[in-house]
Amino acid sequence: MKKLAAGNWKMNGSTAALAEVEALIAAHPAPGCEMLLCPPATLISAMAARATGAALKVGGQDCHAKASGAHTGDLSAAMLLDAGASHVILGHSERRADHGGSSELVRAKAGAALAAGLIAIVCLGETEAERDAGATLAVIGAQLDASLPAGATAATLVIAYEPVWAIGTGRTPTLDQITEVHSFLRARLSGLIGAEAAGTRLLYGGSVKPSNAAEIFALADVDGALVGGASLKAADFGAIVAALSAA
Ligand code: PEP
Repeated sequence: MKKLAAGNWKMNGSTAALAEVEALIAAHPAPGCEMLLCPPATLISAMAARATGAALKVGGQDCHAKASGAHTGDLSAAMLLDAGASHVILGHSERRADHGGSSELVRAKAGAALAAGLIAIVCLGETEAERDAGATLAVIGAQLDASLPAGATAATLVIAYEPVWAIGTGRTPTLDQITEVHSFLRARLSGLIGAEAAGTRLLYGGSVKPSNAAEIFALADVDGALVGGASLKAADFGAIVAALSAA
């Protein structure tokens, strides 16, 4: 399977930031992994235009579960596709916290994404209190079970393990903790989608940066990363792409 370096720009970036995309494309014309950036929706079209013919894919950060209708401020999966996106991040902990996204809603959105022809990146992760209580695997297992849409395959689904306490904090789990969760996820996934689990990309996310990328990418069952802050600068994200290409 081809590994995936995915960047989440969150609510950052205006047209001027597209210079970073041009620098990234120029520095990595043929990376040894897939490269994806998920900018704010306002930049998807412009970023996709710059990515045409390059080894960069573009994604959204959320979508509505419905195909169309009276949902002011929302975007459908088909709209993201129409704007040039190939992927959509779903169930990011910031969306779950700020917009009340349950795993059942994530499942509905992921079903809509697949129906529209997008690849769904489903995010899971425990809070610090849940980890301290020894509930990490139970929490993640329940999120996985409830979030997966019917018919998901290795080609249409990506799972991102993102401990909530590691996002944007500079803190990361130990390598053993990442390994434990990823091997648990692979096994649990195989109970849900059978043989497709072996080829489904399992990303780690949470304070990945150039200095820790290589050791994380060397772990079994880590097939890439979902990167927030370090995806905003071409030099940082490019270093992570290079580390994943070499893993
Ligand atoms: C994220 O937003 O998905 C993320 C992992 O952020 P950061 O890399 O900044 O911790």
